Amino acid sequence: MVIGIIGAGASGMAAALAAAEFENVQVILMERQSRVGRKLAATGNGRCNLTNLHASGDCYHGDAPQFAASALTQYDVAHTLAWFEDLGLYTVAEESGRVYPYSDQANSVVDVLRFALEKPNIQLLTGFEVKKVKKVDGGFRVESADEAISCDKLIIACGGLAGTKLGGSMSGYQLLRGFGHKCTKLRPTLVQLKSSWNGCASLKGVRANCHVQILHDGQLHSESWGELQFTEYGLSGPVIFEVSRDACQSSGNWTAKLDFLPDKDADWLTQQMLRRRATHWKAEDLLTGILHNRLGRVLTQSAGISAYVPIAQLEVDEIETVANAVKSFEVLLTETMGMDAAQVTAGGILTAEFAPDTMESRLVPGLYACGEVLDIDGDCGGYNLQWAWSSGRLAGRCAGGNT
Ligand SMILES: Cc1cc2nc3c(=O)[nH]c(=O)nc-3n(C[C@H](O)[C@H](O)[C@H](O)COP(=O)(O)OP(=O)(O)OC[C@H]3O[C@@H](n4cnc5c(N)ncnc54)[C@H](O)[C@@H]3O)c2cc1C
Repeated sequence: MVIGIIGAGASGMAAALAAAEFENVQVILMERQSRVGRKLAATGNGRCNLTNLHASGDCYHGDAPQFAASALTQYDVAHTLAWFEDLGLYTVAEESGRVYPYSDQANSVVDVLRFALEKPNIQLLTGFEVKKVKKVDGGFRVESADEAISCDKLIIACGGLAGTKLGGSMSGYQLLRGFGHKCTKLRPTLVQLKSSWNGCASLKGVRANCHVQILHDGQLHSESWGELQFTEYGLSGPVIFEVSRDACQSSGNWTAKLDFLPDKDADWLTQQMLRRRATHWKAEDLLTGILHNRLGRVLTQSAGISAYVPIAQLEVDEIETVANAVKSFEVLLTETMGMDAAQVTAGGILTAEFAPDTMESRLVPGLYACGEVLDIDGDCGGYNLQWAWSSGRLAGRCAGGNT
């Protein structure tokens, strides 16, 4: 039996290796780029956060997030770690549960997968961009601009639209639509947020530990704790990725409420600053030693206090205003950055049209899909790759014959 797989990213390689475990199976893995796992090699800031010890169904989203449960149970984190160990990858888990290769190099993950693909029953075709697929008698015909292959079963593992510079494209959605599948609205997620506040540009590059609440017309939309980074256009960093899902996707007022000192209350901070009235320090140093200097100055200024006034001359209520700015600073949001900057696509091919326990299409027997092309996206922290491994291995095994 010949199984065609379109896309040699995370889920496509996982599918190919699972399918090739069956001796009677011949896998043809097609990749439009010149090498496999190009996006994978850029994940986790080049470190590849390949899974998370705390992965569970709650970490996934989509119109029907429960769709992910079967794949994530059949191929859970323990299975994934054992599988990678078997492939030769040595991994370490951080306290947060995030798992990385011990080498700290995403390329190590790509390498062990690449080497594992070197099997007699896997044919890898790079530079093969699938343009057309169609159902033919007893199987599928898959065409690039100048070549065609035939296969008995077909797995679409083309990924999503996010990370366009690394290969994200509409291709998978289009190929599946051609078979009659429907696609939900695509949105960038795990993405930076743009702000109209011009303070962002002056704080470009500053990192801060922060509690972030995203408010929509004053109502809490999402919240998280962690590292925030200012950029020229707005807000970035792991904590922003975590709260970015569906932010700014509807009309109304979107704001980020930032607490730059989540472990201390405003009274504590006020007392610290009041003690400084006994010094010769200027107002620009009200927060020196507590926050990043640039951030401290911008927050003090935003409280309407001139940088060069001696702290000794400040009234208590002026100092309280600065404490409030540190604890509850609101930044107006305008939109998210685009798909090119996003790590993941929210939305995708409607999962109701696939069987969750096999990943097979309910519309076209013998057709499978896995990974980001489906309407499943995970939280920030290794959950999206876990979905790619779990859904890819399940699709490969079931296409190979073992359901
Ligand atoms: C910068 C960045 C950092 C990330 N970091 C992390 C992280 O640390 N942890 C985490 O869990 N997730 C991370 N992600 C998300 C994660 O990389 C994806 O969710 C995951 O790679 C999806 O796997 P996939 O197999 O569905 O798609 P992909 O890995 O994108 O693979 C799809 C493949 O299909 C190929 N393809 C597409 N169309 C065709 C066609 N017509 N013909 C032939 N080939 C085609 C593409 O070239 C690509 O190689 C990150 C994403 C980005 C962009």
